[in-house]
Amino acid sequence: MSDKNFDVVVIGGGPAGYPAALRAAQLGLSAACIDDWKNEEGQRLFGGTCLNVGCIPSKALLESSELYHRAHTEFAVHGIHVGGLGLDVEAMQARKRGIVKQLTTGIEAMFKAGGVTGFKGRGKLLAGNRVEVTTDAGVEVLTAQHVVLATGSVPVELSIAKFDGRRIVDSTDALAFTDVPKRLGLIGAGVIGLELGSVWRRLGSEVVILEALETFLPMADQQVAKEALRHLKKQGLDIRLGAKVTGASLEGNAVNVRYEMGGAAQELVVDVLIVAVGRRPVTTGLFGADVKVPVDQRGFIEVDEQCRTTVPNVWAVGDVVRGPMLAHKGMEEGVMVAELIAGHAAQVNYQTVPAIIYTAPEIAWVGKTEEEVKASGRPYKVGTFPFAANGRAKGMQQTAGLVKLIADQEHDDVLGVHIVGPLAGELIGEAVLAMEFSASAEDIQRTIHAHPTLSEALHEASLAADKRAIHGINR
Ligand code: FAD
Ligand code: NAD
Repeated sequence: MSDKNFDVVVIGGGPAGYPAALRAAQLGLSAACIDDWKNEEGQRLFGGTCLNVGCIPSKALLESSELYHRAHTEFAVHGIHVGGLGLDVEAMQARKRGIVKQLTTGIEAMFKAGGVTGFKGRGKLLAGNRVEVTTDAGVEVLTAQHVVLATGSVPVELSIAKFDGRRIVDSTDALAFTDVPKRLGLIGAGVIGLELGSVWRRLGSEVVILEALETFLPMADQQVAKEALRHLKKQGLDIRLGAKVTGASLEGNAVNVRYEMGGAAQELVVDVLIVAVGRRPVTTGLFGADVKVPVDQRGFIEVDEQCRTTVPNVWAVGDVVRGPMLAHKGMEEGVMVAELIAGHAAQVNYQTVPAIIYTAPEIAWVGKTEEEVKASGRPYKVGTFPFAANGRAKGMQQTAGLVKLIADQEHDDVLGVHIVGPLAGELIGEAVLAMEFSASAEDIQRTIHAHPTLSEALHEASLAADKRAIHGINR
């Protein structure tokens, strides 16, 4: 094949797109990946939102800010006294940028090693599975047996609080603050609101989060959500539920935010306002005139369970299609599509996509919440175990939270696991694997968990779900 004809052309080089191209190449197909990301210095980098301004930089800052916070508040309990504790936000940001650079340039290295042709520019799907690529060098047209659309998402902007990049900002700007804002407001107590609110709160900001809904984290198990809310509030995050923002305006060096809560008009004055009310799919300029890839009312490309669009050999994966906007969900879809194109059997198990919120304590879950199971009418049992009774958590001085396991009352299959606590994001992996293997609560009960580890809390929760196993007697 000439270098303009490929088996697979992927448009979008984020966590959904680049693994699709790499997996296709691993399976012996010729693959190209086109991505138009440009950072603030004008460098074109693969990796999409996740690596450049999402998962990776946010976790870098969460780690740094948590260490600073713990040095302030917890070290003394361990008998460690650090005098003159200082904060260098620029150094923290430089570390973050270094990690982003290593990982984004790492993708290019993987492309080179794996035989994927990378194009740094804009892709447009033309009729007949041709793809127009516009790079700094000009315009060219590629032909492809298959095209995978992986163009991702961008932050939603509110017409009543338009971004200005300085005082009213999105998550991208909020990851790059060079100073700690004294008064920080956030609209939206979703995943970004909680993670970025935590970063800047730990570094010293007074943080107020305005959330339109009355329920905190409605997608999470409510026992776990309530426990998380209690701990986050204790850390000083002022989370106001049922707060409907009606407007925001710049006043001198401040932002005046107007909202309604409990039937009364309220006002909040902050130095910076982060708007984190969700993200929307990106398909602007993606389709040539004769291309008819269906897009739903909210802008998502319509696909079936295996990410096929209705146009033959055109697929779509990641944030630009239905389902949770999560990097690992997109990655699995990208890999699945590459395998299907290569003629293999492949599927994504959408029932076991884990969700993690990287606050402290972390919040993580997989499967159904107790509210969902109850609503389904299926008889179920619940086991919980608090980290306060876990030896490792005590040693870590991180005893907040609990593990909750929900299993079918009759058949014993694990229906959901919900964790709020230390390293919940790591612990949930065991529950995901268990559910992927259709484990029962008894399977987890009979699995040896090393002592002392945090994972024992899941073991104990599985035992608590079924008192027979604890006492060794039949009920
Ligand atoms: P994207 O990552 O958005 O990548 C799409 C790429 O396509 C971009 O580079 C874009 O520039 C490019 N593109 C778009 N149109 C074109 C075109 N026409 N031609 C060429 N290129 C194009 N998820 C998690 O799972 N865990 C986390 O911890 C997490 N943290 C997050 C923190 C923040 C602050 C944010 C904002 C998001 C976070 N997410 C997290 C969500 C995660 O980043 C997304 O789910 C993920 O990046 C989606 O991957 P994607 O490949 O579908 O899209
Ligand atoms: P989100 O959907 O998680 O939360 C948005 C919140 O804003 C919701 O609680 C919503 O009720 C609220 N809201 C919406 N409009 C509002 C208004 N006008 N006034 C007040 N509140 C309002 O969205 P997000 O936090 O922006 O994150 C976007 C996406 O990025 C999510 O889909 C998330 O999965 C992904 N993400 C994931 C992670 C992670 O996996 N750890 C981290 C960050 C982002």
